[in-house]
Amino acid sequence: MSRRYLARYLVSRYFSSSVSSRPLHVCIVGSGPAGFYTADKLLKAHEGARVDIIDRLPTPFGLVRSGVAPDHPETKIAINQFSRVAQHERCSFYGNVKLGSDLLLSELRDLYHVVVLAYGAESDKDLGIPGESLSGIYSAREFVWWYNGHPDYSSLKPDLKSSDTAVILGQGNVALDVARILLRPRTELASTDIARHALSALEESSIRKVFLVGRRGPVQAALTAKELREVLGIKNMHIRIKETDLTVTPADEEEMKNSRIRKRIYELLSKAAAAAGTSESDPDQRELHFVFFRQPDRFLESNERKGHVSGVNLEKTILESAGSGKQLAVGTGEFEDLNCSLVLKAIGYKSVPINGLPFDHKKGVVPNVRGRVVSQTVEGLSQTERGLYVCGWLKRGPVGIIATNLYCAEEMVGRISEDIEEGVFTSSKEGSKGLMQLLEKREVKKVDFSGWEKIDAKEKQMGSEKNKPREKLVTWEDLLAAAAAN
Ligand code: NAP
Repeated sequence: MSRRYLARYLVSRYFSSSVSSRPLHVCIVGSGPAGFYTADKLLKAHEGARVDIIDRLPTPFGLVRSGVAPDHPETKIAINQFSRVAQHERCSFYGNVKLGSDLLLSELRDLYHVVVLAYGAESDKDLGIPGESLSGIYSAREFVWWYNGHPDYSSLKPDLKSSDTAVILGQGNVALDVARILLRPRTELASTDIARHALSALEESSIRKVFLVGRRGPVQAALTAKELREVLGIKNMHIRIKETDLTVTPADEEEMKNSRIRKRIYELLSKAAAAAGTSESDPDQRELHFVFFRQPDRFLESNERKGHVSGVNLEKTILESAGSGKQLAVGTGEFEDLNCSLVLKAIGYKSVPINGLPFDHKKGVVPNVRGRVVSQTVEGLSQTERGLYVCGWLKRGPVGIIATNLYCAEEMVGRISEDIEEGVFTSSKEGSKGLMQLLEKREVKKVDFSGWEKIDAKEKQMGSEKNKPREKLVTWEDLLAAAAAN
């Protein structure tokens, strides 16, 4: 056995032994899919790993609870796997613990050998155009958090009654989610876990027309086929797509040749346009308009309701090659107005920095080399922070589905294993014990997994009375009270 191999072997045995007196203390910040998949893989790969998962919310599961649409229960099945991880004897969940205010990153790094940041993307990209702060304009994230009962947005009260028209900017899957929730028959939403306040507001909503506006064409729409088919299949709804928008250029043909997904989306949209019937005078009839080649230029203010949006001024676009087969939208200087009383910006989420953490503000991610946080780059060489890692949307940017985090977690655990083998974690750390002392000293009312189980049981019991899988508790007070109940 070579000396190098022997050294690696001894260090890995040191941390992988379940009876080791010096376990590998790991803290994962964020209890969404990226955090839980990383915990799962770490626990399996290293018998000596003790994993604490902290989250600023009293509830675990991040995007699965607050982001996944209520009418997509099958996607929420991941919660079963995450719950098994949280109940693992070497894993603990502590909710209602906020990194940055309850604890500093430097304190966590002092307590744990490994800190994995997996707190996702809790903010939004801005358009940076005039009128963006008018009321009636929300990010899709705010709207999604509202209908999913996120405690920070349960009192949002979006105006769904001032007109029959909503505009959604962006043509990704989040845009489709919010369009579907606005247009789907309420009876179909009533048996989901949608928040009670959202269901009542949607029942009274006068929105019947939704415009999904994209700055590029149908070949470039950032949709996936399953999600598009679902929205096209909504009962009693007409699809509107201008025939001229479906004209394809040789560059579009090339894009479709290189991507089966792009081709499939184009075919589905073309088929839907061809099948579109004429609107009848049914008051409950809905319309979904796909508007292509238009970029928002400014928001219009209502004359009657000062400070409220009354529409969007859109600039027509054409596509220009940006090299390597990519086409970008360029304004033509021709403008038109689209009137509405509600605007949802579905142009992408954005991660937020915390004190003491390197952050790339332009890309909205933590700079990293394959998950290792980069402190600085000198003459092309990146220096990484010892024991500090990043995964999920905070690492890659806000793209990808829940399962994408499986690959991210695998890479993460690969890096941590390499660092174990390289002998990076030799000092002794306090782990959970030190965290508990710190939280107690600061009087932080942490919610552990048994606290979450009480919330879960209460929500399920309230839901069963209404034939819903759960009735979510939507305020901080109610969540904390349920977690603390005997
Ligand atoms: P996305 O897929 O990146 O789509 C963003 C949309 O916003 C694109 O149409 C983009 O147009 C447009 N956009 C961006 N900046 C713009 C600007 N300045 N002006 C006008 N338009 C702009 O993001 P997302 O919809 O937020 O979804 C995030 C990730 O979650 C995606 O990977 C998505 O697939 C996933 N997701 C999946 C599901 C599901 O599987 N059911 C549900 C929800 C979300 P360009 O293409 O021209 O940039």
